[in-house]
Amino acid sequence: MFDNLTQKLSQSFRNLRGQGRLSEDNIRDALRDVRMALLEADVALPVVKDFIQAVRERALGEEVTRSLTPGQVFIKIVHDELVALMGATNDRLDLQVRPPAVILLAGLQGSGKTTTAAKLALWLTEREKKRVLLVSTDVYRPAAMDQLRNLGRDIGVEVFPSDPSQAPLTIARDALAEAQRKVMDVLIVDTAGRLHVDEEMMREAKDLAAVVQPAELLFVVDAMTGQDAVNTAKAFDAALPLTGVILTKADGDARGGAALSIRAVTGKPIKFIGVGEKVRKGLEPFHPDRMASRILGMGDIVSLVEQVQQDVGQEQAQRMTEKLRKGKGFDLEDFREQLRQLERMGGMASLMDKLPGMGELPAEAQSALADQKPMRRLEAIINSMTPQERRHPEIIKASRRRRIAAGSGTTVTEVNRLLKQFEMMQKMFKKMGKGGKGLGRLLGMN
Ligand code: GDP
Repeated sequence: MFDNLTQKLSQSFRNLRGQGRLSEDNIRDALRDVRMALLEADVALPVVKDFIQAVRERALGEEVTRSLTPGQVFIKIVHDELVALMGATNDRLDLQVRPPAVILLAGLQGSGKTTTAAKLALWLTEREKKRVLLVSTDVYRPAAMDQLRNLGRDIGVEVFPSDPSQAPLTIARDALAEAQRKVMDVLIVDTAGRLHVDEEMMREAKDLAAVVQPAELLFVVDAMTGQDAVNTAKAFDAALPLTGVILTKADGDARGGAALSIRAVTGKPIKFIGVGEKVRKGLEPFHPDRMASRILGMGDIVSLVEQVQQDVGQEQAQRMTEKLRKGKGFDLEDFREQLRQLERMGGMASLMDKLPGMGELPAEAQSALADQKPMRRLEAIINSMTPQERRHPEIIKASRRRRIAAGSGTTVTEVNRLLKQFEMMQKMFKKMGKGGKGLGRLLGMN
């Protein structure tokens, strides 16, 4: 799912990469691409419109200062809005009622209800240590009842015996009584589906719900059906008091529109996704944030942005900018502060993990970048200087260099190298102060 969407979105982010800042122009272009990508992924049009509007508003208001590029900031905004679209957190099953808690599954024929009933039963038994009873009320398809019986046997979960000659409501009532008698924690009721939305099916589901009073009434829908999934979801939501959605066949090559639209059009959370035909390992709780990161396919760039936003305080960045602007210059105290910031963020190694493409660098280059030791040595050298020396590095002549090397457990060569590097940085910052750009952004200073 989502492969195509991911590819299209990455393209639009790439187009932003060369840009210095988020402006109305480049936001417009990027939004056009995002809009196209969502429509191609089969996301419902009204949902796309609202989404684009929300991203636009945030992007225009967002400052791209500090250590981030406009592309990164834009990705973060799109990510956050995707999360909001799909529901901020994973909504767990709410089974806090007097047992047995009933889970009623509704949906079209072939959507995966029976398979999902078994998957849920297994999940609740193994993960939540619940005692579960399964029952099928699909009297129209004897094969469906057999299917559930077989699945139950495979996973070792009891299936209440029912047969096609009984009325669905009677089956449900009897199964509930049995679950109560056996002090089961959960009763999962599989219902009959139809090929299309039809009134009789809805009425039956509604009557069943009235009888068993489900703690969860879950709508099961096939992700592969795209726009139809959204329309079906609307119809079920209008007819039944749904508490959530299970999106099946998310392992297939569905374009993903259903996952992105269903929450928005029904207001009901996706609680699980089906990710395979196998009952074991075929069900996962749905996590909007993880799904959004997966859709964006941006490594873990989103958490990188969060980390930077959190760790590199805006205030500090501004202080630095002011300093440069007033021409007071960048001294060794500032340099040390930058080193510390980098270290607080987990050093280059932690940043590298989160940058897409870093994994492709040769191994030696990676380990050289990840090595924190040189940074610590630099910091040790600066620590061994007096405040006077840090503010006026030009006074550090030969004897002071020897003292600093000894004090920091380094060598005079290393002290010389640091001072040389620092001098070069200072020159660069002076240029930047006169309107230059580039490294300043990297260091969070403009
Ligand atoms: P029902 O008619 O709604 O009860 O649907 P079934 O449970 O019989 O499922 C219909 C088909 O979809 C079966 O072939 C299942 O194996 C398949 N299926 C169900 N869930 C998934 C899923 O998450 N992934 C995949 N790939 N197939 C699924």
